[in-house]
Amino acid sequence: MNEFDRVMTGRLARLEAANLRRNLRRVDSAPGRTVESGGRALINFSSNDYLGLANDSRLKASASRATETFGAGSGASRLISGTLKPHAELEARLAGFKRTEAALVFSSGMAAAMGTLGALLRPCDYVLIDRLAHASLVDGARFSGATMRVFAHNDLEQLEARLAWAAAAARSGSKDGNDPPHVLVVTESLFSMDGDFAPLREIAELTERHGAWLMVDEAHATGVVGDEGRGCVDAAGLGAAVQVQMGTLGKALGSAGGFIAGSAALIQCLVNQARAFIFSTAPPASVCAAALAGVEIAASEDGAARRQTLFEHIERLASAMRGGAPRVRSPIVPILVGAEEKAMTVSQRLFAKGIWVPAIRYPAVARGRARLRVSLSAAHLSKDLDKLIEALGQEGLV
Ligand SMILES: *Cc1c(COP(=O)(O)O)cnc(C)c1O
Repeated sequence: MNEFDRVMTGRLARLEAANLRRNLRRVDSAPGRTVESGGRALINFSSNDYLGLANDSRLKASASRATETFGAGSGASRLISGTLKPHAELEARLAGFKRTEAALVFSSGMAAAMGTLGALLRPCDYVLIDRLAHASLVDGARFSGATMRVFAHNDLEQLEARLAWAAAAARSGSKDGNDPPHVLVVTESLFSMDGDFAPLREIAELTERHGAWLMVDEAHATGVVGDEGRGCVDAAGLGAAVQVQMGTLGKALGSAGGFIAGSAALIQCLVNQARAFIFSTAPPASVCAAALAGVEIAASEDGAARRQTLFEHIERLASAMRGGAPRVRSPIVPILVGAEEKAMTVSQRLFAKGIWVPAIRYPAVARGRARLRVSLSAAHLSKDLDKLIEALGQEGLV
């Protein structure tokens, strides 16, 4: 083995020893209620496909039609080769869905977060971020070079203290009268690993009181929460108080990609300054057309019926978990195990029973806070829930 591969192998061995090594699992079927892997069928509790749209025939038909008309690839970035009709149609629909002036699509949520935070924040600015916020937000904040401070998860008192400090620091650092230092607060609305919600009204109120701006990542809430699945910001009536709304197209909406919704001025700034948008090939037409069909379904009566089924499943699992159930109801149900090794063995035993529930470990969550994360979907049947609850019972987890 050469020197390079010896170093790589050593790194993998250390991950393995800490129970933190990850391996890809090959799947030989479409993502859905069940998937086929290793020659067997598994009930799939691992996906963020909350409305069961990822393999929906309407999304697939839209994607196929768009491929026929606009091709398989997009050729270049949109500033170079232009915006395809499916990009424009999707962005107009997303702006309507989020009730904002405009929206901009990125090739992933990761790119949306990196591009947007990098464009909005300068080294003279301040960014305050919830401790449990997604890696894309943390990396985007770091990448911007702004001064970053973390506040404890959903801790309003600590947020207020950080806001007071940052607002004062921004004022004293003010040199350029046209564009002085700013403070941006960043949080998720429905948290990806804990399945709980941010107190958005209070956060918006504090943020406004200290003259700061607010960015809310609705990756998991879009399509799932609120009227027509518009998300938590809209449900709380906070559209005007949240300058930057982020969402993804790859979870409940059934396709792939990320987006930002906000004022026309924000979107024009991102087109000019978000490097992950400027220096990246545009998403193909098929992906945008599928996402557009996903939004239409999420906002329709079919979407409402799917959300109802989803929330019935959520209630069902919560009542089986009794005292161990999360205090709030969301499709992300963490079952805290603690030790990384234990989370992995339980996940493997469930797998052997035909149930796919991923073990979530550091760095996705803190060390020693490993968990099984059950993701529920409208596509599940009650018998799937029966099997899951029975298997969790045999593990002493419900
Ligand atoms: C999934 C996710 C992202 C990233 O979106 P992708 O489209 O998967 O890159 C960003 N933020 C949160 C909270 C997420 O859960």
